[in-house]
Amino acid sequence: MKSIKDIDKKYVMNTYNRYDLELVEGMGVNAYDVEGKEYIDLSAGIGVNSLGFCEMGWVASVTQQLCKLNHVSNLFYSQPDALLARSLCEKTGYDKVFFANSGAEANEGAIKLARKYSFDKYGEGRAKIITLVNSFHGRTMATLTATGQDVFHNYFFPFIEGFEYVEAGNLKAVAELVDKGDVCAIMMELVQGEGGVIPLDKDFVDGVRKICDDNDVLMIIDEVQTGVGRTGKFLAQEHFGIKAEITTLAKGLGGGLPIGAVLATEKCSNTLGFGMHGTTFGGNPIVCAGANYVLARMDEDFLYEAEQKGEYLQEKLAQIDGIEQVSGLGLMIGFKIKDKTSSDFVKEGIKRGLIMLTAKQKVRLLPPLTITYNEIDKALEIIKSML
Ligand SMILES: *Cc1c(COP(=O)(O)O)cnc(C)c1O
Repeated sequence: MKSIKDIDKKYVMNTYNRYDLELVEGMGVNAYDVEGKEYIDLSAGIGVNSLGFCEMGWVASVTQQLCKLNHVSNLFYSQPDALLARSLCEKTGYDKVFFANSGAEANEGAIKLARKYSFDKYGEGRAKIITLVNSFHGRTMATLTATGQDVFHNYFFPFIEGFEYVEAGNLKAVAELVDKGDVCAIMMELVQGEGGVIPLDKDFVDGVRKICDDNDVLMIIDEVQTGVGRTGKFLAQEHFGIKAEITTLAKGLGGGLPIGAVLATEKCSNTLGFGMHGTTFGGNPIVCAGANYVLARMDEDFLYEAEQKGEYLQEKLAQIDGIEQVSGLGLMIGFKIKDKTSSDFVKEGIKRGLIMLTAKQKVRLLPPLTITYNEIDKALEIIKSML
């Protein structure tokens, strides 16, 4: 009999360099492999399982919806979709939401929205979008183009037109590009996730906000990774005291089900009209039921706790010999290991029962927001033992 690993290698396209680990179940922060070995999971499916594996209330909400109405097309109204949109708007102060199925799709929607806004007001020739060097916005053609990392820009030429890149922190470059008069939006992550868990400078973000205000350029904040409590606030923007006209969410929103969302302020919430954008699966009732449960759990106490736990974990990591450059916000954390590559360290962690991620040269942690101090301490003990 062939093993699952062999079957996967033979039949699934080899786009992922998987770790030598097959997971079969999980509960809370713990995952279990085929042999029943237990792991502490500080990856949460890359920030997706915001409440950990199979949280009971979440399972109940999703299951109830599953037994009631599995899918309706966007030709009709359905409760989970409408209630989720309302919760998101109430939590964030945004005016309206569009539901997609992934982060890339949410960003794709944001790009279309920004271009349409500018076209309506200024006509053709003002469609450029500025993004940051070292950013990550997804794998579709437009979001790949938006992604400011050359490694992703191989093979797939030609890319789509209308993107310009600036270094994070280089406000002058942003101003010069905007001065040309053909820019409709600036898109960025507030903490560059895949790029190495690098928070932007507050001065730079404030400066970009001002340039956007002065020139009617839309700010798009990609909160696909930072959003939904990951940084200890519902949106990372709250740390910076700014608000973008368009915010995108995905990873942690569904608690383990595929969903993306585009949030828009009043200024552009009616820019996309009937038939101008759409998706078959977006707003699926089961997925929205999961997201509704996630949002219901994320009250102020929950977010405060997540923020505190993030600070605790960052502090403790910084005290460990052999660890340097601890960075991040809330429970989105990166660090370097002195004499080891991040991927070697992650591989070794798996042997010791600890699941972590990499982000370039950094080890990256995105634990479930429900992780306890006790579980954090256990994980820290394993990390220490590895150094
Ligand atoms: C993961 C990620 C994306 C892409 O999301 P997918 O669901 O994989 O399409 C986009 N932007 C950021 C900041 C991300 O972290």
